[in-house]
Amino acid sequence: QVVTRIAPSPTGEMHIGTARTALFNWLFARGRGGKFLLRIEDTDRARSTPEATDAILRGMDWLGLDYDEEPYSQYARADRHAEVAREMLDNGHAYKCFATQEEIQAFRDEAHAAGKSTLFRSPWRDADPATHPDTPYVIRVKAPLEGETVIDDKVQGKVTIRNDQLDDMVILRSDGSPTYMLAVVVDDHDMGVTHVIRGDDHLNNAARQMTIYRAMGWPLPVYAHIPLIFGPDGKKLSKRHGATGVAEYQLMGYPAAGMRNYLARLGWAHGDDEFFTDDQAKAWFDLDGINKAPARFDFKKLANICGQHIAASDDAALLHELEAFLAATGAEPLTNDQRDAMSQAMPSLKDRAKTFPELLEKAQFCLTSRPIAPDEKAAAALDDVSRGILKELTPQLQTASWSRDALEALVADLAEAHETKLGKLAGPLRAALAGRSVSPSVFDMMLVLGRDETIARLQDAAG
Ligand code: GLU
Repeated sequence: QVVTRIAPSPTGEMHIGTARTALFNWLFARGRGGKFLLRIEDTDRARSTPEATDAILRGMDWLGLDYDEEPYSQYARADRHAEVAREMLDNGHAYKCFATQEEIQAFRDEAHAAGKSTLFRSPWRDADPATHPDTPYVIRVKAPLEGETVIDDKVQGKVTIRNDQLDDMVILRSDGSPTYMLAVVVDDHDMGVTHVIRGDDHLNNAARQMTIYRAMGWPLPVYAHIPLIFGPDGKKLSKRHGATGVAEYQLMGYPAAGMRNYLARLGWAHGDDEFFTDDQAKAWFDLDGINKAPARFDFKKLANICGQHIAASDDAALLHELEAFLAATGAEPLTNDQRDAMSQAMPSLKDRAKTFPELLEKAQFCLTSRPIAPDEKAAAALDDVSRGILKELTPQLQTASWSRDALEALVADLAEAHETKLGKLAGPLRAALAGRSVSPSVFDMMLVLGRDETIARLQDAAG
């Protein structure tokens, strides 16, 4: 069974790159009936914060990336990590190192002066620890000294590292706490992780982590190190380019399905397919389709894909997500009347809205109540002539049959009587019904508002 994981360090906002890595792992596992785990790598106590963990949990939730089992805390497993360090000590793959910081520094200075590699070579690697009082020590792994380590990476290909470039890294600190390098390997092994899909900034770590797998005789996971996300200018994505935090995208009102679709395309491709569903992505996703070159974040493309997802969404699900968006932004929840109106209006609101704020903008006509205060642009459409026409229209609406065809015919006749085009009446009607110049079609609005409310709004505007 395939087991993947996302292993973020809780040290700040949830970065969009973390979201993309999570998505890849999720798609890979879900498309293969596998498991997808969430492990909070909070081993670095100084940098980890509960707020950052919350941000990760909320981000995963918003993105709809469901994981199996409870989220793991890496720190909570520190005893297990230490146990493995001791085991490596016992089986001779690790050793106690008593070197002090000063001694390590002196070694480096000397090596530097002699033009040699400054990788620390501990004199304790082959010494008998019994010759030293059991005072503070760290445990170091015995890295291989000769030969090479080959990472058979599914994205980067075969990456070869000379073993003389690997140091005897510390796996257990003198205070008994495990290092990240040890923790990540033990956790991946214990949790049965079969595929490690992560950012290529961890590629070098892979070679060092492999020494621990070998020392313990554990099977290696399949590695896939994916390129980082760049901005449109080809530099690593940062605040200069725009939002980098998952929460920011949520608050900008992008729909989660559109976000998943866009992020999936960021560094992975399935032919020319741009728009796809989760089910398609799960069926299609594989490591071969991951690009070796960094992907560039394209804000316009994101908006486009999101618009397509809004248009394709089920009405009820979309309304539900919109309400979650309002809650996330701290806005007032919808009243029952507003919800009813929006649910009726949804088919006419969905097209051409790329975000929830755009959808809400179009929905203003069913969210506001009388008297409607037209904005400047809308007010300009309400001149004396058009007010006169509205006055004429209202009594006719009392008796009209309330269907799109009948209403369209009525307004068309009125336009003809005034020797103007139907389109010319749309402006004032829009201004009267919605108070703005952006809205669904006037007939869509009339149908949603109903006869009484429509007439009342037209009378208000006609003065
Ligand atoms: N905790 C690491 C990070 O946030 C991830 C390490 C891994 O995926 O193996 O960058």
